[in-house]
Amino acid sequence: MTTTHADAVTTMRATVAALHQHLTAYNLVAWTSGNVSGRVPDRDLFVIKPSGVDYADLTADAMVVCDLDGAVVDGELDPSSDTAAHAYIYRNRPDVGGVVHTHSSYASAWAARGEAIPCVLTAMADEFGGEIPVGPFAIIGDDSIGRGIVQTLEGQRSPAVLMRNHGVFAVGPTPRAAVKAAVMCEDVARTVHLARQLGTPIPIAASDVDRLYERYQNRYGQAGRRS
Ligand SMILES: [Zn+2]
Repeated sequence: MTTTHADAVTTMRATVAALHQHLTAYNLVAWTSGNVSGRVPDRDLFVIKPSGVDYADLTADAMVVCDLDGAVVDGELDPSSDTAAHAYIYRNRPDVGGVVHTHSSYASAWAARGEAIPCVLTAMADEFGGEIPVGPFAIIGDDSIGRGIVQTLEGQRSPAVLMRNHGVFAVGPTPRAAVKAAVMCEDVARTVHLARQLGTPIPIAASDVDRLYERYQNRYGQAGRRS
């Protein structure tokens, strides 16, 4: 590696390590489950959480660097057991710079029923541009999880997918954006679940979803500075 490339890897190690604190802060994970990864800019590499390490011990040095086939390039620990799924996404979605996986409770409860979360909140229209879709049942060990994620997200505006009987995979242009999508996915999964207990949530008209999404994605906040 040249110095520049080594620096990019070092930076992404620190970024990915630090982002894991959001998974615990937002109560999205139990024990060592859940993981964040980030693509190294301009390199066919990504940085991912090691397998089975306590969240308190997830330092930058503990992160694992893999190529886009999921093979370890640098790191002393074994990578996350979800590495093949992350690698498949990076290989097939050049626009994706970060991937997050959680078994967050409310979203996974929708996944357990195989039910998409309907777009019944303006926050959902803003962030997801419609429903949060459900992907197929897939067992860890080959490309089937990654393929199911990529195929389900194709043609959707949602950056998150509920893999049936499993949990959430979220993507974004950066690892931070993917973490945000995972946090927001759990937040709306909880609220829509609560609404369901009290009655029938009211759908938002497709034209209003479009307007909300366009406004939020292009004009909300510090325009051009969001990540
Ligand atoms: Zn999982």
